[in-house]
Order: sequence, then C-alpha cells, then structure tokens
Amino acid sequence: MSRESSVPKSSAILTCKHEAVEPLGLNAGVEFLRCPSCGAVIVTDGNVRLAIPPVRAAG
Ligand SMILES: [Zn+2]
Repeated sequence: MSRESSVPKSSAILTCKHEAVEPLGLNAGVEFLRCPSCGAVIVTDGNVRLAIPPVRAAG
C-alpha cells in the first residue's frame, strides 16, 4: 500500500511528463527548462529533448 512512497525520488523523472516546466534560459539555441514536479532540468535542442535529473551534492 505504501510501496509507492518507497520509490526513490530520482525515479520520478522516469514517469514525470515534465508538462509544467519553467523556462530557465536560452543559450546558443539550446533552451533550458526546469520541471518543478520532479526537479529535473530539461534541455531542448531542436528535436532533442533531454531530461537531466537533479544532482545532489554528496554530504
Ligand atoms: Zn518532471
């Protein structure tokens, strides 16, 4: 029943559709967006869309 809560948060990026993204900026034709839902940074370059999971500093 509580199995879902045991899933690591980083896996949310795999199921998140990144629909409500916030624009971060534009650099050399590459658009950077951030998804508040999963914390991922979305990099959009033409037809390529890359989701970068949030990186937490060790310690
Ligand atoms: Zn997302």
